[in-house]
Amino acid sequence: MAKRRIGVLGGTFNPVHIGHLILAQGAKELLGLEKVIFVPTFHPPHKRLRGLVCAKERYHMLSLAIRSNPDFLLSDIEIKRRGVSYSVETVLELKSKLGKVDLYFIVGSDFLREFSSWKDTQVLRKICRFAVVQRPGYPYQKLPRNMSAIDVETLDISSTFIRKRIKSGRSIRYFVPDDVGKYIVKKKMYR
Ligand code: ATP
Ligand code: MG
Repeated sequence: MAKRRIGVLGGTFNPVHIGHLILAQGAKELLGLEKVIFVPTFHPPHKRLRGLVCAKERYHMLSLAIRSNPDFLLSDIEIKRRGVSYSVETVLELKSKLGKVDLYFIVGSDFLREFSSWKDTQVLRKICRFAVVQRPGYPYQKLPRNMSAIDVETLDISSTFIRKRIKSGRSIRYFVPDDVGKYIVKKKMYR
């Protein structure tokens, strides 16, 4: 019997936007995933922390963003673990929780620029497969072994773009799910 396939989409989600949702849905369809688990980082290893909204709020915005889709799940394992969030620890923990499944780590091509500095990449590449989507502005020539490209239609937007729009007083309507946008306004975040 074929193993169940589960996707993992890690990120800072500061905040979640429709680019993330389109990525997850596309990966689900193309890879035949049963579920996609969104895993917000507690403390991202590679990012400047200025302007980073606390993990609880980023988690809450994600819960608003995915609640209408039963195929999307949300995990707080990095938040519960606290400290710097390393993907290798997350994948090991997920594997022990989920039993015999094939895990697909879904990433945008921008990740290729920093992957070599990740923790225990050799281990990580053995315990899960990488599905890489071409992200506008981050072209690549060739993927490392045992990573595969997935042809998802992506949007040229990022959380950085969303934060900048809010700072400059512009609307983020339609770039983020309605409930997320309303929550950001209510909580006066990213101003
Ligand atoms: P920031 O600008 O703060 O880095 P981001 O939009 O890149 O935010 P992250 O939380 O860093 O969001 O990304 C989580 C994952 O989603 C990464 O693998 C990233 O490559 C991917 N991703 C984010 N936005 C898009 C997009 N528009 N299209 C495809 N993949 C995306
Ligand atoms: Mg990013």
